[in-house]
Amino acid sequence: MTIPTICSPDELATFLREGVDKADIGYIVIDRNFRVLVWNRWMERASGKERAEVLNTPFVTIFPEIKESRLEDAISNAVQRGMAGILSAKLHRTPPLRLHRIDGDTTPLTNPVIIIRPLEGSVPERNGCLIQIIDETNSAIREKTLRAQALALRAQEEQLRTLFEAINDSVLLLDKDGSIVALNDTACRRWGGEKDAMLGRKFLTFLPSPNANIHKRHFEALASSGMPQRFEDSLGEYTYLVSMFPVPNGHGAVHRIAMLASDITERKAFERRIFHLAHHDALTGLPNRAYLQDRLEHAIDLAKRMGRRLALMFLDLDHFKAVNDTMGHDSGDALLNLVAGKLQSSVRVTDTVARMGGDEFVVLLEPAGQDEDIARLTEKIISTLDLRWGSESDAIRVTTSIGVAVFPDNGHDARLLMKAADTAMYVAKAGGRNTFRFFSAEMTERTMERLHLERDIRDAISREEFELYYQPKVCFRSRKPCGVEVLLRWRHGERGLVSPAEFIPLAEETGLIVEIGEWVLEAVCQQIAKWIREGRQPVPIAVNVSPKQLFSGDFVALVISCIERYSIPSRYLQIEITESAVMADPIRAATTLAQLRELGINIAIDDFGTGYSSLSYLSRLPIDVIKIDRSFVAGLADRRENLEIINAIISLARALKMIVVAEGIETKGDVEVLTNASCHLGQGYLFARPMQIGDLERWLDARQPDHECWGCK
Ligand code: C2E
Ligand code: MG
Ligand code: MG
Repeated sequence: MTIPTICSPDELATFLREGVDKADIGYIVIDRNFRVLVWNRWMERASGKERAEVLNTPFVTIFPEIKESRLEDAISNAVQRGMAGILSAKLHRTPPLRLHRIDGDTTPLTNPVIIIRPLEGSVPERNGCLIQIIDETNSAIREKTLRAQALALRAQEEQLRTLFEAINDSVLLLDKDGSIVALNDTACRRWGGEKDAMLGRKFLTFLPSPNANIHKRHFEALASSGMPQRFEDSLGEYTYLVSMFPVPNGHGAVHRIAMLASDITERKAFERRIFHLAHHDALTGLPNRAYLQDRLEHAIDLAKRMGRRLALMFLDLDHFKAVNDTMGHDSGDALLNLVAGKLQSSVRVTDTVARMGGDEFVVLLEPAGQDEDIARLTEKIISTLDLRWGSESDAIRVTTSIGVAVFPDNGHDARLLMKAADTAMYVAKAGGRNTFRFFSAEMTERTMERLHLERDIRDAISREEFELYYQPKVCFRSRKPCGVEVLLRWRHGERGLVSPAEFIPLAEETGLIVEIGEWVLEAVCQQIAKWIREGRQPVPIAVNVSPKQLFSGDFVALVISCIERYSIPSRYLQIEITESAVMADPIRAATTLAQLRELGINIAIDDFGTGYSSLSYLSRLPIDVIKIDRSFVAGLADRRENLEIINAIISLARALKMIVVAEGIETKGDVEVLTNASCHLGQGYLFARPMQIGDLERWLDARQPDHECWGCK
């Protein structure tokens, strides 16, 4: 048989020799007489014997140690009987051949594997055999290392598996078609199945369809882009965070998909709680100012897109402070809760009721109907919130004032709408409370002016811009001064001297009057004390007291404290209170006035005739003086009808043992008419205009006051 070769027989012989020399095993060929024919390099190095030394030398001569050994038998069997043989190192106690390792190491080669193959020569007499010697030391070490590595890997895998199972999150390994390749116990429990039944099945089949859709979307996004996915999903109470990431194969392509679902139910609940706390009012549980702001902005966006209307109601309870002051804060809190509940049940679920703080609430109607619908609802709320609070005997009537602003008519953003509703509420308050107003453009200017004035009044106290003017009262009988009324003036930085008619009502409304009134009372007592110190006999000074101040709760205590601190006789102090103030709350007025009179203080009803009260009713109150309002006195000589009223007032007052003072006397004719009508005292520009203390003292000195005047006793 000719072997087709692409090289010459010489080249082939060279290749074969080189190949044999470069082999990593010992390579020996011996003839039937055991003489060495081939001895490769490996053998040269392992035995230390050169090829030239051993060629044609009998094998047993080279390795005398093999005599009568299994190796000799094996070689004989191969050469003579054509039998192959293998001698594993393990079968030998002692090394079959004296060789050493050839990897630079000189240690004896203890356990070579010797493979013996018979070689058929061209004729039977030429039989020989091939002896291959393999050093297994290296492979044994390699095997040991591999085994150790395998063990370590198994341990590591064991640890990972324990971790995989112990982890409280669901972990799944999915195939690219979404079928489950592996999953931990948590995943089994969570997605409801037996592990074996779940393995190999598509994960999405274990989810309700809305959840499955979300998962599917992310799964596909990952599969196509290779980008990890992260999303939140929930199943009933259970909220979880899903992380999907690709598991690449050795070449970087997505091989499988790992999915981790972490339970974030508690964290979400906690977040919801924190959100609730941050966005709701602790007392009523209603949305707070910040939350309303959010809702309103959102509602405006939506309304813009849908072309809808919104209405914003700004509510402020009337007389809430009285509840807090007289019944305590717990009662006030209970009232606020009641109001919150009533408001919520007055509107639809789509509307928002929020508490802005204090006694202020806001209702956002979303969407809102026409103005008439809004007005109807507002009226309904006003009547729902018209309450009597407290026990029957001392109940306080609580009502509500509401300002309404409409989107888009009154503002295009949340800030403007809120401001508009607030302004309208202000106007509703000023309009007598227990009512509502829709915002209108004119409101702003007026309101701004009021707001500025309010701010200026506050500053006026600290800047000491208030001054006192005094206007004398004259006795008709003696024609001499017998007392003065103190009148407040405000020396405003820009406006000059401002009349009380301009700022008292606002100071009253804002409550600032209480502080101002205290200042007046203090200054008056100081003045009386100064007169006494200077040896000048004082004339009684009448102080105007506003209803807010009178009903502030500690007015009597304040008066007592002033009188005591300046050590002044109380007869020099008089109090003027308007008829309408008394009529606002006659029962409370009666108590307070009685306490003042007890102190020896003279009490006058101011502006009498303007408040629709009857004198006989007033007779039941502890009142000493009636001051007939200027409107009845002005031009008295020419207006007969007023004279009749004045005559009636004077005769009744006299019968009730009250002293009558006529205000606003400007002409001698008035004096004549009033004298004829037996009026006791008069006050007006005819006698003197209100003046500063220095002028008053000179004016009094020139006229010698009538300290014995019956009207002043
Ligand atoms: P009132 O207590 O009735 O005071 C009388 C008002 O009539 C004063 O106005 C006085 O200047 C004015 N007047 C006196 N005689 C005449 C006259 O012949 N003709 C005219 N046309 N007017 C006359 P004023 O000072 O502007 O005070 C207005 C109101 O402001 C007072 O009315 C009083 O209710 C209130 N007021 C003044 N000072 C105080 C105060 O210290 N505290 C409180 N709460 N109210 C005050
Ligand atoms: Mg007065
Ligand atoms: Mg008056």
